[in-house]
Amino acid sequence: MNNFKFQNPTKIIFGKGQIASLKDELPQDANILLLYGGGSIKRNGIYDQVISALGDRRVEEFGGIPANPEYAKLMEALAVIKARDITYILAVGGGSVIDGAKFLSAAALYEGDEPWDILTNNISTTKGMPFATVLTLPATGSEMNSGSVITRAETKEKLVMGGPGLFPAFSILDPEVIHSIPQRQLANGITDAFTHVLEQYMTYPMGAYLQDRLSESILQTLIEVAPKVMEDPTDYTAASNFMWSCTMALNGLISKGVPTDWAVHMMGHELTALYGIDHARTLAVIAPSHYTYNFEAKKEKLAQYGERVWNITEGSTEEKARAAIQRTEQFFHELGIDTKLSQYTDDYEGTAEEVAKRFTERGWKGLGEHQSLNPEDARKIVEMAY
Ligand code: NAP
Ligand code: FE
Repeated sequence: MNNFKFQNPTKIIFGKGQIASLKDELPQDANILLLYGGGSIKRNGIYDQVISALGDRRVEEFGGIPANPEYAKLMEALAVIKARDITYILAVGGGSVIDGAKFLSAAALYEGDEPWDILTNNISTTKGMPFATVLTLPATGSEMNSGSVITRAETKEKLVMGGPGLFPAFSILDPEVIHSIPQRQLANGITDAFTHVLEQYMTYPMGAYLQDRLSESILQTLIEVAPKVMEDPTDYTAASNFMWSCTMALNGLISKGVPTDWAVHMMGHELTALYGIDHARTLAVIAPSHYTYNFEAKKEKLAQYGERVWNITEGSTEEKARAAIQRTEQFFHELGIDTKLSQYTDDYEGTAEEVAKRFTERGWKGLGEHQSLNPEDARKIVEMAY
């Protein structure tokens, strides 16, 4: 096991009816920006619960943060923060709104001229404007981590940022918010969380027994609840297990002491930047190719995953490992998620070259848990995913 430090300062308030606890959790004297997305919260009652809990606090609203939070829109929100002397951000939404809040938290205290530099220059945020979240869509884990992914339509870029100053102060997780989530987003949430675990688990060398078993239990729980939440999002037992699994998949715990990959996400982000494909679906496209391409290095771990998570007990290590990749792809299909790029766009020719070119231009020479994948490897992996 590798050396590690573990600290996660985000307070989680979990359960039915907990949105009301905003009343006690938010500082009374804060000047709050209420940040939200395209308006689902106004149709499903979450907005009303939030407003009633806010009481007589000073609140400015900013809605319209799109899926894959867009830089230009966030810059409008930043102008409101400055003009209205905002001191605290409350994000009510899924990963896009929460990631948007993290960008704003960093940008509000950033002293440079162009906040986009935070993303292009990898500037880690050690202190941001305080913010909290009400999660409306289990998927990303953003409600309990310090990472964020921001899109810039103008340049077709999607880049990551973060830092120890970007953990939410607290996050409210009420599984009842799942009632109104469309099937497509439920499937996305399951797939994103599942892939988050794979990115931290499907690495080598092996030897972190507890982290492996924590990861395997999150994967098994997601597999167990997936058909249930898809069938009936009002099934509270399924919804609560789904929600907590997504948070646990990316709150830092399972990545401690182990090498982490993240190459699937890095390639996937380019597919969203280029074609606007939902984040989770890009992962389902890239993951099978990635594990097939890196088969030799990852086969023992793939076989362990096949045995313990999918009950694949027959055959050699290689056979179990291959079956595990196939079973994973089948799981995505069962959720209604296509796993080939050509199923999302007719314009896929040249994508692999474009991704490799972008990685080269950015100086990303080494992706994966041992920084061993160069842009040419990325080209081949993306091409396999056509
Ligand atoms: P999302 O983009 O936040 O939301 C997707 C859609 O779901 C939106 O149209 C939203 O509608 C709707 N929605 C959300 N909650 C709903 C509810 N309770 N009922 C009905 N509709 C609801 O989806 P996401 O998958 O959570 O976030 C994706 C983003 O997170 C991507 O940009 C991805 O790159 C990023 N990400 C971040 C991390 C991280 O650790 N920070 C990890 C993985 C991915 P409204 O807009 O109308 O609310
Ligand atoms: Fe993700």
